[in-house]
Amino acid sequence: MTELRRRRDGVQDADLIELRLDTVADPNVAGALSGRRVPVIVTCRSLQEGGLFRGSEEERKSILAEALERGAEFVDIEASAGFSDLISAHRQRIVLSIHDFARMPVDLEDRLRDMRRSGVAIVKAAAMVRSLTDCVPLLKLSRDLESEGAYVLIGLGPAGLVTRALAARFGSCWTYAGDEVAPGQLPARKMIEELHWRRVSRDTALYGVVGNPVMQSLSPAMHNAAFRAIGLDAVYLPLAATDADDFLRFARAFDVRGASVTIPFKRDMFQRLDEADALSRRVGAVNTVRRDGDRWVGTNTDVAGFLRSLDEGGRLAGTRAAILGAGGAARAAAVALSSAGARVSIHARRIEQAETVASLVDGVAATLPPLPGTWDLLVNATPVGMAPNVNDTPLPDYTFDGATVYDLVYNPLETRLLREAAAAGCRTIGGLGMLVAQAEEQFAWWSGRRPPARLFQHVATRCLLESQCTPSARPGSETSDSERRAVSP
Ligand code: NAP
Repeated sequence: MTELRRRRDGVQDADLIELRLDTVADPNVAGALSGRRVPVIVTCRSLQEGGLFRGSEEERKSILAEALERGAEFVDIEASAGFSDLISAHRQRIVLSIHDFARMPVDLEDRLRDMRRSGVAIVKAAAMVRSLTDCVPLLKLSRDLESEGAYVLIGLGPAGLVTRALAARFGSCWTYAGDEVAPGQLPARKMIEELHWRRVSRDTALYGVVGNPVMQSLSPAMHNAAFRAIGLDAVYLPLAATDADDFLRFARAFDVRGASVTIPFKRDMFQRLDEADALSRRVGAVNTVRRDGDRWVGTNTDVAGFLRSLDEGGRLAGTRAAILGAGGAARAAAVALSSAGARVSIHARRIEQAETVASLVDGVAATLPPLPGTWDLLVNATPVGMAPNVNDTPLPDYTFDGATVYDLVYNPLETRLLREAAAAGCRTIGGLGMLVAQAEEQFAWWSGRRPPARLFQHVATRCLLESQCTPSARPGSETSDSERRAVSP
């Protein structure tokens, strides 16, 4: 209880705090409620509904009854619990809830209508969504429920983040935020400051980054900061798609205006578009799409982002450039370098992949590692060395004898590859510059306006430095099953 009260009083950004009495060993209703400065929802979730309460149903009921007697603003009771006497005596302070941590119930609408008949203040459903497309029926359901009283709809899981971030569009009377221990849940501060939760209305234009995984992307912080800075009513969200078609179905239903595309969908998305510009056709991948009328069009700003961040001016002509990896980033780097006159070699663990990318630019395909003495510029376009595997390098025990080493990995800001290359006397470049430059090009392509100078650089650097201090970035900080089960949706 001491911990619960400490956390309750430490919350800064919430209008309402849920007190999970099932998560404490010594539940004490009076202690939970006394001295509160913010209205609360008292919850004591049973094991069956994903909570941690191990006592009897009678004990649970008496905790909830005491919370109501002592004036808790809301008490959450599961529809499956029964407790009908409690519910009918306190309808106006009851949140009647259902939870399904495995799937979206097919009869959700009927169940919510049944729950509504009890006359409670708020009905709440939290159910797992496995794809962005799973959020579409929830949006439709929200329109049907709207005239019937207050409700909260939550899609659990990363794809369900949109149901939290776009609570206004779903008509939910509130949403839940927290310590990121449940997938799809974000801290209140992040929802408010980064995703503009308080400003998002039904009319707010929607953009996002389509990928998987995508929850740790720095792009929402950058693009949302720019939308705010230039006064556009728009929000940019992580969109955890299962594939390109999943995104396109979601985008139609939610009127998405544009999106960044990241691993692993850059090539799939390219193939699904109505139109791709000449540059993305050459690369064979898009990292940026937008809706023009009924059509989806795409471009690739990785190419311009790569060249801008390299900042070599005309000096690339004749440069021997060795690229490690043969994925989407390698393709963009190869096209960029070749268009600037460099002689490109592609080095991959699967030679056939290297050959495919090399053929885009009349380059040479080879295995890893590149032979010393064969390159002036070396570009790492593999994820090796990326957090959390910061001790890895694509070139262990290597002799760096070229001029410049460029690592497209941006987290950490300085990789082991860059440290070792610098120690050998190479000029080194980290991936943050490309991340920033390609995002600036995306923003301009969508909005017709440049983001304020240095804004993206500033925001991305701050987020990276902060992420290196958060518990989730620390090794060994995996959330246990019991913690995950205990969190509120
Ligand atoms: P991708 O399409 O998945 O390609 C990754 C490439 O790396 C593939 O060729 C893969 O080979 C290879 N690879 C993976 N693990 C490897 C290992 N242990 N040893 C050797 N090769 C390995 O990914 P991507 O989109 O190209 O991205 C690659 C990296 O660039 C990521 O770290 C990404 O964050 C970074 N990136 C940065 C920016 C930026 O703006 N700074 C932009 C784009 C990408 P297989 O096919 O054999 O697995």
